[in-house]
Amino acid sequence: MTGETSFRRAARIQAIAVSEILRIGETARRMKSEGRPVIVLGAGEPDFDTPSWVKEAAKAAIDAGQTKYTALDGTPAMKDAVIGKFERENGLRFRRDEVTVGAGAKQILYNAFMATLDPGDEVILAAPYWTSYADIVAISGGAVVPVRGRPETGLRLDPADLEAAITPRTRWLLLNSPSNPSGSAYDAESLGAILDVIARHPQVWLMMDDIYEHLLYDDRAFVTAAALRPDLANRILTINGVSKAYAMTGWRLGYGAGPAELIAAMAVVQSQSTSNPSSISQAAAIAALEGPQEILAERRAAFQARRDRISERLDNCPGITCRKPEGAFYVFPDCTGLIGGRTASGRVLENDSTVARWLLEEHDVAVVPGSCFGQPGHFRISYAAAQSELDMACDRIAAAVADVAPAREL
Ligand code: PMP
Repeated sequence: MTGETSFRRAARIQAIAVSEILRIGETARRMKSEGRPVIVLGAGEPDFDTPSWVKEAAKAAIDAGQTKYTALDGTPAMKDAVIGKFERENGLRFRRDEVTVGAGAKQILYNAFMATLDPGDEVILAAPYWTSYADIVAISGGAVVPVRGRPETGLRLDPADLEAAITPRTRWLLLNSPSNPSGSAYDAESLGAILDVIARHPQVWLMMDDIYEHLLYDDRAFVTAAALRPDLANRILTINGVSKAYAMTGWRLGYGAGPAELIAAMAVVQSQSTSNPSSISQAAAIAALEGPQEILAERRAAFQARRDRISERLDNCPGITCRKPEGAFYVFPDCTGLIGGRTASGRVLENDSTVARWLLEEHDVAVVPGSCFGQPGHFRISYAAAQSELDMACDRIAAAVADVAPAREL
């Protein structure tokens, strides 16, 4: 259809640009369809398959007729599986009315912000942060207050910087450990220091996104806020899901646990949007949480080997500094050494977005610029890809940066 229409976007989504990540993905797909050998390292999902017993549980649920509406925010069996997981793995105890289940961790985040934010309420995001955080806060009518992490701690949030950003309007701090995109993780000491700040400001609640919990390397112990500071648990929402741990991104199943009054308010939002998460996905998620857990260690070992190799290779590229992150499946190299440089084709690399565009358009490697995550001067690579592809991507990046003439000294 062409021509003028009376279509108008609602104000609440006008500030939300179409994600640059999606735009890069589309360009990469188009280039591929034109026959270009593009390597796409933008995806935030494991390249492994969903475990076979999880698939079997889903098929059994279908055959048993579990194909109808379920309890709004999770079946009793699903909630019990979540309660069991939190108790076993995190030492946290919850009742059923303190647990909520939705269509992915993303819906849990959305429900929580929609249920709690009034116009002008502030949410502190530790940058770099997953892009959707800022957009969900914006859709919910809140104001994003980004606080950049410190390079010397792998871009983790500094407690003093957090304290300085808190105002009487601050409702939430949202933390993600291990982090998308930086891969950095908090240990008991660094998380404890953040929680000391939260303890001093009773109006501030903490949303803890633990979705990459099982992707933590070098035998580090995972630590979550509600377990570290039980005295603050009455204002902590712990969020998790099966997408990343069990390679179940397509099943859309995430969960959260926290104070009952918050969980009830979130159920109101879910009741008027999607209602219950898929009955079949809930049956599958129970099998994931209660079934054999050996795959977690196997997959973690595979990701750790890829992390070691890619971070070392990128760190050896002139103009790029790549820290070896503690977790998740991303590296987030600093490319400020390339900024201002001139490429072999005569392009001036003005910022991280030009670096990403140049790598895609001229060297067939799709990465995501750091500015998408509130942290310019970097780019993100997802190493949830075959080792041969990662090696080839590193070869291409190394060859590309070798031909960049550095910025002239002024
Ligand atoms: N949190 C973070 C930090 C993520 O990276 C993602 C997925 N990209 C999610 C939450 C959402 O996961 P899901 O909705 O698939 O559970």
